[in-house]
Amino acid sequence: MNPAQTNGDSATVAVVGAGLAGLTAARALHRAGVDVVVLEAAGRIGGRALTETTTLGSRVDLGGQWIGHDHHRVMAMAREFGATQYPMHTNPLPTVLDGDRTVPVAAPGALVAWLALGAAEVLSRTGVPAGWNNATLGAWLRKLPWHTPRRLLEVIAGTSWTADLDRFSVTAATKFIRHQGGLRTMLATAGGAQDALLVEGIGALVDGLAAELGSRVRTGQRVTSIRRDADGVTLRTATGTVRATKVVVAVPPPVARQISHEPPLPPERLAVERNTYMGTVYKAIAVYDRPFWRERKGGEVIVLDAPGRAVFDTSPPDGPGHLCVLVPGPEARTLDGLDPVARREKILGSLVGHIGPEVLKPVDWHEKAWHLDEFVPGGYTALPEPGTVEGFPSAVPAPVSDIHWAGAETAADHAGYFEGAIASGGRVSREVLAALADREQGAAVGDSTAG
Ligand SMILES: Cc1cc2nc3c(=O)[nH]c(=O)nc-3n(C[C@H](O)[C@H](O)[C@H](O)COP(=O)(O)OP(=O)(O)OC[C@H]3O[C@@H](n4cnc5c(N)ncnc54)[C@H](O)[C@@H]3O)c2cc1C
Repeated sequence: MNPAQTNGDSATVAVVGAGLAGLTAARALHRAGVDVVVLEAAGRIGGRALTETTTLGSRVDLGGQWIGHDHHRVMAMAREFGATQYPMHTNPLPTVLDGDRTVPVAAPGALVAWLALGAAEVLSRTGVPAGWNNATLGAWLRKLPWHTPRRLLEVIAGTSWTADLDRFSVTAATKFIRHQGGLRTMLATAGGAQDALLVEGIGALVDGLAAELGSRVRTGQRVTSIRRDADGVTLRTATGTVRATKVVVAVPPPVARQISHEPPLPPERLAVERNTYMGTVYKAIAVYDRPFWRERKGGEVIVLDAPGRAVFDTSPPDGPGHLCVLVPGPEARTLDGLDPVARREKILGSLVGHIGPEVLKPVDWHEKAWHLDEFVPGGYTALPEPGTVEGFPSAVPAPVSDIHWAGAETAADHAGYFEGAIASGGRVSREVLAALADREQGAAVGDSTAG
């Protein structure tokens, strides 16, 4: 399997993007004996997987962190790299804080919200009229005349999808609920999509894959253009060109839009890149000597005050206390202009009445506004623009001549999750191996005919 030869750098397969999808694909190809190179734009690998070490030595994930109860590929990879999985510490139901007030689970406001969620679950199974793809969830929720259920639903929807609810259709919401296995699986910690974490962080998987690939992974190599011809592809990066027989683009579609193509991509693929956008999300982890809130009212909280946020107890077993805060959607942007201390106080301040003033004094603090990231500007995942369908989950894209597509957004199952990213890496590696084999067979037939 020799790459088409040029004077520049070359490989049989070039993988664009060193997230879990790109690294999984590259490792599978490398193990199959294919000459592969991974070109990563950022100065680090991992993409939306980003693990940091706290001053107490524990590990925190500023990108994705949870392993769902049925995310078997992630679990298998964690076992392979010797990472330790632990269950989420969880309460039967989160506490809902509305200003200084705790909203009782059976309060009329909460009941209206639970009823609306029930209706959404039914609609996710029955399907909704076509016109609802132009109606935004934000506009629908504003029709609710009561503050508490409206805010509760806004914060739950925001935390689930990180969407701008005025840019997320009712149809998209129901499609995502269905794809994510129903509301219970989608929202639940224990037994749902937020079932477990890794003591070492998801970075253990990224590092394990990269170690096997060695110098085949190159950082600081943003791919700016891909030119296709009869023999393969030429990729342009900031520092030069790479010639390859095949390329795997493992970058979320709205980000891949920045790569120019010659000849232009077909309309179906352009539509995927143009009709999707990345969610907006800010994430922080406050670190304490111990999870003191467990002796009080617990660390699982939904805060309705702006910016709406969800708080989770992600502390490792026997380890320090970790309080994880997710601020989703456009309200997250209101934090961007604050200085770090003011931001931290704003985020933790609402918890003082619930678990005590110690919450304002973490021993360490890790934060990231994903919408400000230079290379993956948003998360958790790519979302469909209202009125369009290309960003609905489980759209596995067809190759465009020698360009193959991977990434969490391309998975048939668990799209948008690590599980989907790893699945897509496996799927694309099989696709590329089959295409390379076909090509060799074609060349052999050509040679024998010529002879
Ligand atoms: C805050 C947050 C919380 C999340 N929580 C969870 C969770 O709990 N559980 C879960 O399963 N999932 C979660 N996710 C989603 C999960 O992180 C992603 O699904 C997964 O990491 C996507 O992997 P990927 O390889 O498909 O893409 P990415 O990780 O986005 O990798 C794409 C890579 O391509 C690089 N790149 C971009 N453009 C170029 C270019 N032109 N040239 C070269 N390289 C380029 C990027 O720098 C990046 O490294 C979360 C995401 C975020 C942001």
